[in-house]
Amino acid sequence: MSKWAYVNGRYLPHRSAAVHVEDRGYQFADGVYEVCEVLGGRLVDETRHLDRLKRSLDELRMAMPMSRAALGFVLREVVRRNRIGDGLVYVQVTRGVAPRDHVFPPDTVRPTVVVTARPAERGKTIERAEQGIAVITVPDNRWDRVDIKSVSLLPNVLARQAAKEAGAQEAWFVDGEGFVTEGAATNAWIVTADGALVTRSADHGILRGITRAGVFDLAARQGLRIEERRFTPEEAKTAREVFVTSATNLVMPVVRVDDAVIGNGVPGSVVTGLRRCFHDHVEIAALRRSRSAT
Ligand code: PLP
Repeated sequence: MSKWAYVNGRYLPHRSAAVHVEDRGYQFADGVYEVCEVLGGRLVDETRHLDRLKRSLDELRMAMPMSRAALGFVLREVVRRNRIGDGLVYVQVTRGVAPRDHVFPPDTVRPTVVVTARPAERGKTIERAEQGIAVITVPDNRWDRVDIKSVSLLPNVLARQAAKEAGAQEAWFVDGEGFVTEGAATNAWIVTADGALVTRSADHGILRGITRAGVFDLAARQGLRIEERRFTPEEAKTAREVFVTSATNLVMPVVRVDDAVIGNGVPGSVVTGLRRCFHDHVEIAALRRSRSAT
């Protein structure tokens, strides 16, 4: 099946979709993005993703490139054209194409909008979730506005590569005071001995994960207590359970932090339960009406 991408108003075959070499995303990482889960061909938590996209754009003094309704349509259309059942849709908005100069280009420069989609690697993810993943810890060497979902991800790329080379699947950043901030592409959580879910509060030190917010909703419904506070790698190593969250991984058990095995080395009951019920309360966009319907 041929794949499709959306680039600045056009749906193009993925292999020939391209942006200009002077796009500011390419030159300066001057742009933001979102990754949204697709479930049964429908977007999960679209409202929250578009809210976060708007917030990221606002923080970089960029306007939404089109109305929310239009952008939602484009996301759905890319999902539809690629015949994605379960998968991910990616949207990137940059400050557009202009001769390379650090200062913002004139307002007449249009933002660049790219949307792509891909199917989930279902088997791989299920296997990972059954076994649990390993994380390593690395110093947090990022800027102090990681709450903006910017395409500038070099520290995250290096951290993930370090994890891979260490035989792990994720790297947790540790701040200058010795506390875990978040993963290279996930939010970090532990479960305490008395069953509370602990995750860092959503200040500027972490990305406000949409899956993280979904776990807050789920925990409230299940009567699980959440503590929004910092924790150290040492606390994680002796925690009852450990997990990470992201649109790509949903709720993913962690069974090793650096050299420490968590619990008895297999995913625990709290995280397994959260994973199983995760989709029970998320917003799943209504199915579009079929063409034959009035
Ligand atoms: N933290 C970082 C640095 C990320 O890159 C991501 C996702 O890409 C997350 C957390 C999780 O966010 P979400 O749940 O919205 O996917």
